[in-house]
Amino acid sequence: MNEADYVPIAALNQYAYCPHRCWRMFCAGEFIDNQYTLEGTGLHDRVHTLGSNHRGDTWQVRAVWLKSDRYGLIGKSDLIEEADGQLYPVEYKRGHRGEFDNDELQVCAQALCLEEMTGRSVTQGFIYYAQSHQRQPVELTAELREAAIATLAAVRTLLHTGQMPPPEYTPRCRGCSLYDRCLPQAAKKVSRYRE
Ligand code: SF4
Repeated sequence: MNEADYVPIAALNQYAYCPHRCWRMFCAGEFIDNQYTLEGTGLHDRVHTLGSNHRGDTWQVRAVWLKSDRYGLIGKSDLIEEADGQLYPVEYKRGHRGEFDNDELQVCAQALCLEEMTGRSVTQGFIYYAQSHQRQPVELTAELREAAIATLAAVRTLLHTGQMPPPEYTPRCRGCSLYDRCLPQAAKKVSRYRE
């Protein structure tokens, strides 16, 4: 597999959020910040300093690159921890626990890489929500693994074909930094006129 064939782990998260947004970011190279993305970038800038330490009985390493040759995945982790003999990824997110499962797919993809790199099984990961200062456990079930692998296949097809999924207006659009470019409601009206 060529380096260019590796799918960024973050693309799975974006695709699960909205395939059209994923296309804009990873095929069209568009990105615009809004309040939410700026807060997220600031959070990751603080976290993404390579280093390891012990916190009590927990070993922590930050900003490690994760890669899977089997799945063709690559991405930088926020935090990897080992405690009680268990190794697991922790993904940092701004805000509160959301109603969407895209962050869980990202944690699962990190775990797939971690398993391949270490030869150890990873049964759980976490999402740390900065606003609420809470860690949400993510159980790496067979269903979540299947969903992550299916999303990976969809993203790979998107990146290979470059074919644009149409924008769809959903509750997610309200927090999307690309809303003003995408104008999903206007796009829907235009497509109706064309029918
Ligand atoms: S505004 Fe909505 S449809 Fe458009 S990219 Fe964002 S989430 Fe997707």
